[in-house]
Amino acid sequence: MANDKKLVEAITSMEEDFAQWYTDVVKKAELIDYSSVKGCMVIKPDGYAIWENIQKELDKRFKETGVQNVYMPMFIPESLLQKEKDHVEGFAPEVAWVTHGGLEPLQERMCVRPTSETLFCDFYARDIHSYRDLPKLYNQWCSVVRWEKTTRPFLRSREFLWQEGHTAHATAEEAEERTIQMLNLYADFCEQVLAMPVIRGRKTDKEKFAGAEATYTIEALMHDGKALQSGTSHNFGDGFAKAFGIQFSDKDNKLKYVHQTSWGMTTRLIGAIIMVHGDNNGLVLPPAIAPTQVVIVPIQQQKAGVLDKAFELKGVLSNFRVKVDDSDKSPGWKFSESEMRGIPVRVEIGPRDIENGQAILVRRDTHEKVTVALSELETKVGELLDEIQANLLERARTHRDAHTYTATTLEEFEKTVEEKPGFVKAMWCGCQECEDKIKELTGATSRCMPFAQEQISDKCVCCGKPATKMVYWGKAY
Ligand SMILES: [Zn+2]
Repeated sequence: MANDKKLVEAITSMEEDFAQWYTDVVKKAELIDYSSVKGCMVIKPDGYAIWENIQKELDKRFKETGVQNVYMPMFIPESLLQKEKDHVEGFAPEVAWVTHGGLEPLQERMCVRPTSETLFCDFYARDIHSYRDLPKLYNQWCSVVRWEKTTRPFLRSREFLWQEGHTAHATAEEAEERTIQMLNLYADFCEQVLAMPVIRGRKTDKEKFAGAEATYTIEALMHDGKALQSGTSHNFGDGFAKAFGIQFSDKDNKLKYVHQTSWGMTTRLIGAIIMVHGDNNGLVLPPAIAPTQVVIVPIQQQKAGVLDKAFELKGVLSNFRVKVDDSDKSPGWKFSESEMRGIPVRVEIGPRDIENGQAILVRRDTHEKVTVALSELETKVGELLDEIQANLLERARTHRDAHTYTATTLEEFEKTVEEKPGFVKAMWCGCQECEDKIKELTGATSRCMPFAQEQISDKCVCCGKPATKMVYWGKAY
């Protein structure tokens, strides 16, 4: 068994060093590899398969609301990027520029898209003429580039994968409705598929998207008590429409500006899954997103009939995503490898089990073992996957709630942030000066003004003036 333990020993414990634990897990679970391209990563098959499942689930939900997929160019001419002032100021520091085509300098340099609002606006200005052309409900799956100085796998890299939805509507009300609809879609997806509870709310003006009228967000709490913004939905009002001249003639024959939204989720979500559910044995994947839901490990597979039985069981479990590990590694090694990779259920089957018409099921989340009759295997595995999915959400919710604090004075706020990593709920007057001061003093930023408001006190935690909002604060990724 000494040899079998090596894989687990290869990761730092999360209590000792959470950042190192994270890095170890993404490497040892073979989700990514580093690359010669600075600040970028190679997403390996097991990591990409998680992304494919995220895509599949999200895409289905988008389409149910009438969204269609399109594809825009990856380059943005500088003049186009500069049309909306706040937008260009927000993105300029992290934009990558293309200055040459082959050996020839370009007449106008182009950036590699950091986000595609400007391209969609340019397109909508040509494509939208009448109220009959509305709404436009488009989404694209692509990668974007932001020249980050410090990078971490999945959480921050110079190129990352995402989806960006861009819609155009006839009225402000319709745009606001769509903005909230997509935020709720994201929140439901996180909770139902990723087993990750989120706080739904609105960003303060300081934290909102460059060029947006309002930004809504879902915020999740990672195992180390840091927050992670997991998806955002923006209402642009008619600001971009005015900058780009996107007008339509309405039913009353008047020329009007459209109202727009955009919303996105990225490969950061994979980082969130790791940091919400993972443990000291590695990754823990919610069954709904796990590329492999069940691994069958044959015991004494060299003995006659064992491998055949393992593959027969794979057939029995064909409603699930199943793999047989028939490699020549020891069973102990296979066990720890399947744990490292976060596979929700392991089925162990050996000569004695075959004789008794049974198998052993081990769940990844609790390590609990049960013996089941082979005749009941399919039912039991299905039940177990559902239980794991529910338990992971429950566990994450309990963890988040246990790490959510309140503060009514600045002193209490500072002490809480310093001693108890997690969310701090505190009242705020609405002034950016207080937001800045809190960040400067504690390192915590305003995560969101939750839809579910509570009255913790009537005074701003920072300045003591009358409070207007309860805000979730926290240190964030
Ligand atoms: Zn204040």
